[in-house]
Amino acid sequence: MTMPHRFECAAGPSRQIHTWLELHMIRFDGRVALVTGAGAGLGRAHALLLASRGAKVVVNDFGGNVDGAGGSERAADRVVEEIRSAGGQAAANYASVSDRAGAESIVQTALDHFGRIDIVVNNAGIIRDRSFAKMTLDDFELVLNVHLLGTVYVTKAAWPHLLAQGYGRVILTTSGSGLVGNFGQTNYSAAKAGMIGFMNNLKIEGAKANVKVNAISPVAETRMTQGLNAPTLQDILRPEQVSPAVAWLASEACDVTGEIIAAGGGYFSRVKLVKATGAVIDGSRERNVTIEDFAENKTRIFDLTDAQPYERTLDDHVLARMGVK
Ligand code: NAD
Repeated sequence: MTMPHRFECAAGPSRQIHTWLELHMIRFDGRVALVTGAGAGLGRAHALLLASRGAKVVVNDFGGNVDGAGGSERAADRVVEEIRSAGGQAAANYASVSDRAGAESIVQTALDHFGRIDIVVNNAGIIRDRSFAKMTLDDFELVLNVHLLGTVYVTKAAWPHLLAQGYGRVILTTSGSGLVGNFGQTNYSAAKAGMIGFMNNLKIEGAKANVKVNAISPVAETRMTQGLNAPTLQDILRPEQVSPAVAWLASEACDVTGEIIAAGGGYFSRVKLVKATGAVIDGSRERNVTIEDFAENKTRIFDLTDAQPYERTLDDHVLARMGVK
């Protein structure tokens, strides 16, 4: 369909000419968003995009190193300044998401400055990579605390407000490492995969109140990935190329929940856990299935041809094949 480029609205002296894009622009006027870890990288890009479309944004960042050490107010302040000098509205928060009281303070900053909270973008993260053999349990716990519990604490503080107002958008930041694995990142992967379980439940608990909970699995050139992306990709993998997915998931236009969107360099795609057609091994109900039965059916059990999104193990198709209604 070809769209006309300009529309004339209202007659008289205040008549305005709007472009098609202006009329269909996704905006966040009246909405308040918080973005954790928004002092740099992906979080900064998300915050700038949301603010540029009218959202009032709490820029949270504790301003530490990529391994979680240190801390400074500068990172958050810089992004608040960027937003304000572009004409947007923003407030800074310097708490660590992995601190319960700190996480609550991020939501409180939104309430104190802007009177409400609508959008929660859980983005803050650190890495402490080592093979599992060499990783200390302290490093395991620290990474789990920032990514997984940080996401839980911040979301928990916002949740009652979202439910009470009958509207909310929660975005989690998972990772390919969590979904498929990456050498040296057992702590990070466990946290990133744990978020998916958290999302799968929250999407159910938020459904009635129009609170949608989704995740992105980004790829971007940031300080966290410095030296890891191929040089030919570094220019393409700008964080700004991920943010439109986050902003759409944060918008009123978002009509999905419990989804994961992979995003990087302008590529976007839905990610889904699938279940193979599988094998119903007839133990004929009189005898139990044996290990050898399983081994003989291995090809069918593992074959992903005709795989479907995984909803539950004994779905209707399986029950029918079992002869159970
Ligand atoms: P980044 O290091 O540039 O930014 C992370 C920001 O989070 C930093 O500004 C840091 O100060 C802040 N932060 C860290 N711990 C915090 C805490 N406890 N409380 C508040 N702020 C904290 O990294 P990035 O690449 O922009 O990463 C953003 C998110 O995206 C992370 O969750 C990361 O795991 C995820 N991710 C990134 C990629 C990628 O390719 N860059 C891939 C998959 C997932």
